[in-house]
Amino acid sequence: MQTLHEQLQDAAELMRKARKVVALTGAGISTESGIPDFRSPGSTWLKNPPVSYPDFVSKPEARRQYWATRRGLSAQILAARPNAAHHALVELERRQKLLGLVTQNFDGLHLDAGHDPARVVEIHGTSREAACVLCGTRVPMVEIQRRIDSGEEDPQCQSCNGYMKSATILFGQHIPAAVLARAKELAEACDLFLVVGSSLQVSPAAHLPLLALKKNAPLLIINLMSTPLDSSADVVIQEKAGLALPRLIEML
Ligand code: NAD
Repeated sequence: MQTLHEQLQDAAELMRKARKVVALTGAGISTESGIPDFRSPGSTWLKNPPVSYPDFVSKPEARRQYWATRRGLSAQILAARPNAAHHALVELERRQKLLGLVTQNFDGLHLDAGHDPARVVEIHGTSREAACVLCGTRVPMVEIQRRIDSGEEDPQCQSCNGYMKSATILFGQHIPAAVLARAKELAEACDLFLVVGSSLQVSPAAHLPLLALKKNAPLLIINLMSTPLDSSADVVIQEKAGLALPRLIEML
């Protein structure tokens, strides 16, 4: 059994050789910023499964439940700030090693940390904005939140009366083709694929490391719990991202 220091040394050796790192981040990178993840034990999300897209568009009670449960989440996300792991990835970009960052998160913290937005692919969208499911009109989420707070239970688009929802991808909703294509392109072009804080159980994001492996890129996973791809990874570090990632960058 290797020590954390030995694992970090192995990871640093991979990272030193790499010039085109692609990172895939999941909810685990933001837990240290105070936003709970989905699959860690005790998650409230597991007890109250999120509303699916088919239910959202067809059932008024699902939309009311969606907006009611979003109030707490929106407050948590608005209060959150990037943590040491988010900053470490920005440092990787500053050192011109980061080709791109694909995130399953919709909290906007990677952009707040200071990445070049052109390098960031928010594969599940962003909760900073709301979008109309019919015409796609986008408005800042704070605007919709104000309407909800003043009594609207099922806010509608002011251009076409379609239903407004956070500009994120719900279960049962397709990721826009261009967004997915960009994420796949990055995975296939990298010379090191780095997973941080993802259970690798949500598709299609979970398939991205496989694309990189097919192109013979090494795989490095930093995640508290084991993932289905641990046995295919070159290095697995089961440690908090906010501790492991900054130490890894320091060792480069
Ligand atoms: P997940 O909840 O399925 O898995 C998170 C993983 O992160 C777990 O395996 C856990 O062991 C690990 N983890 C937790 N804290 C960690 C830490 N400090 N350091 C390292 N690892 C840590 O997350 P997922 O795979 O991203 O899938 C959940 C889906 O729900 C995502 O697709 C995302 O869109 C959405 N989600 C987003 C947010 C957010 O934007 N912050 C929060 C919750 C859920």
